[in-house]
Amino acid sequence: NKSARKIVLSQVNTTFQDIGGQHMAKSELKEALEFILKPEVISKLGIRPLKGILLTGPPGTGKTLLAKAAAQYTESVFLAASGSEFVEMYAGVGAQRVRQLFQDARTLARKEKKSSAIIFIDEIEVMAGKRGSNQSHLEYDQTLNQLLVEMDGMQIHEDDVRILVMAATNRADLLDNALMRPGRFDRMVRVDLPDREGRLSILQLHTRNKPLAPDVDLDSIARETFGFSGAHLESVCNEAAILAMREETDVITTRHLRQAVDKVMLGEKIDRNLRR
Ligand code: ATP
Repeated sequence: NKSARKIVLSQVNTTFQDIGGQHMAKSELKEALEFILKPEVISKLGIRPLKGILLTGPPGTGKTLLAKAAAQYTESVFLAASGSEFVEMYAGVGAQRVRQLFQDARTLARKEKKSSAIIFIDEIEVMAGKRGSNQSHLEYDQTLNQLLVEMDGMQIHEDDVRILVMAATNRADLLDNALMRPGRFDRMVRVDLPDREGRLSILQLHTRNKPLAPDVDLDSIARETFGFSGAHLESVCNEAAILAMREETDVITTRHLRQAVDKVMLGEKIDRNLRR
């Protein structure tokens, strides 16, 4: 369960090169990050600062990796939280946590002498669902309002720490429209399941430090894994290595990889049945 996940990094090591495929997402994101890299140009032209980027797409496709790479690219401190961390039984607690997160970002950036911070909120739909809808009640509304207040108040002073909020969801349809207004999540970047070429480069990345038998054809594995996410492919590489270990061989073969593909596929099915 990722709901308790909270990451604070003063220095990020993930780069865009560590992310396989996702060419569109990467280039759209890099273009948007110019706003952070060239604040003088932006303000000279009177362009509204970019405050939020929404990453949408299925689980395990690299949204968290992209947010981290964005922090590395812009030399920002990085703070990550999950939307579910802000949902609390008691009124006001969620809103207080939102306030604290933004405060922590500013404090950390100043301490590290960095001019910008990236706040990543995974599963944003959990805290920012449509207001006044059935599932939503007062506490959710307060939490979402606090997020909007923080975003509206950001970067008023020139010397403020520049904060960019990156949020991820696989249910953009559930989000409150207020989030999408100008000056909030202005940009939307789609992070889809990888195509064959993307799958190949993800497989290459995750076998970088693994001994592959010389005849292993990753391209054929990429062909056979239609519908797999980056996270699935990472599991495939890991499972294949485990199979090799069990057989006490020191190289990973095509057979290990194929068996691992079956295993991951089966695991997904079991997972889906449990959820129903
Ligand atoms: P979720 O919505 O479930 O949080 P996500 O889109 O944020 O998923 P990540 O957390 O970025 O996905 O990816 C999970 C793991 O899957 C990564 O740590 C990495 O090992 C692998 N992975 C996913 N996408 C890629 C990719 N494009 N290139 C390389 N590895 C990937």
